[in-house]
Amino acid sequence: MKIKNKFALYNFIMLITPIILIGVISVCFLIIFILKYPVEELNITRASMIDPFIFSQALGEFFKNNPGAVCYAVLWAVICIVLIVTSTTVTTRLLTRSIEGSITDLSRAAESIRSGNLDFEVMGSDYDEIDTLCTSFDAMRKELKYANEREKYMKKERSMLLANISHDLKTPITSIKGYIEGIRDGVASTPEKMSRYLDTVYAKAEAIDDMVNNLSIFSKLELSRLTFNFEQSDFNSFLRNFIEGYKIDFEKNGIRFTDNISDTNAPVKIDYEKLGRVFSNIIDNAVKYGDTSEPSIEISTFISDGGVYACVGDNGIGISPDELKNVFEGFYRVDSSRSIKGSGLGLGIVKQIVEKHGGKIWLKSEGVGKGTTAVVYLPTIGG
Ligand code: ADP
Repeated sequence: MKIKNKFALYNFIMLITPIILIGVISVCFLIIFILKYPVEELNITRASMIDPFIFSQALGEFFKNNPGAVCYAVLWAVICIVLIVTSTTVTTRLLTRSIEGSITDLSRAAESIRSGNLDFEVMGSDYDEIDTLCTSFDAMRKELKYANEREKYMKKERSMLLANISHDLKTPITSIKGYIEGIRDGVASTPEKMSRYLDTVYAKAEAIDDMVNNLSIFSKLELSRLTFNFEQSDFNSFLRNFIEGYKIDFEKNGIRFTDNISDTNAPVKIDYEKLGRVFSNIIDNAVKYGDTSEPSIEISTFISDGGVYACVGDNGIGISPDELKNVFEGFYRVDSSRSIKGSGLGLGIVKQIVEKHGGKIWLKSEGVGKGTTAVVYLPTIGG
């Protein structure tokens, strides 16, 4: 109910209640009065009713002859006054209490928020205006709670990211130091040993370089500082050309490759370098986490839902359903793949690049040991 209507209702109650009560009391008093006092002595004629002077004279005469009736009339007047005062006080009290209740709830809620407690619910009110205020207040509390949780999550993520970066950098650095010490101490005594040591040091330095590059791209993407140069092009031609360079590697590594790239024209906006990074990461993963005895990779595309889908499937170690969405977080690595070389940054970068192209990426897997398919969806221009 609107505050205005509630006030009008209470004003009406405030007016009608004393009228009814006084009416009832007066009727009772009048009956007793008529029974108790000789009212015929009042001698009220039509003329005296019209003329207030004659009427008051008749009344004065009556009360002079019946002094008890004066006390009776005074008692009636006092009771009427008490009734008026009591009913208005009670009605006003009820009205203020109902408004006070809602306002007290709101100020208690504000106090809770000020002291950092956001785990409560702001209850509604009978008054429309206060109810709207309560709803907005509760929405603000929920927003604050979400922002708090997000901040806590981000803090935890930042700490984990730092811990992971330092761990992933420290491992190859420790190893480089070990090999260099070996060279200094003369452990690499033969030219072959020396060459092996130097190759390892070089490989570790390359791993650090890769990691720093990935970190730099990852943070630039997070801060939206990576510039994209989009061109309109046929996605299927792009992918076909791109995997051409992989075919020799597949053959060399004994990977059975199935090419099911559609011939249909699929115009999309492409940043060649960045989208190349996406597919090289996905294909590298399919090779890295693929089956070791009979590796097989299938790349297919099809057009649907106003865009083009590209699927890269392997028959490798697979991923359990609850890990599927985590793999896009920076530094996340599924336990079963920890023994395989990787930083856990690749898919985090891939996801952001695909999203910058207006698309989506997800992984599908029937479970551990059942292979994985990476699906990239890109909207086609005019699709
Ligand atoms: P990494 O450098 O570790 O490969 P990614 O971000 O590319 O980092 O992948 C994150 C994690 O997702 C991997 O460590 C692996 O656990 C899992 N993953 C990605 N692709 C596959 C795949 N094709 N099959 C199985 N697991 C995969």
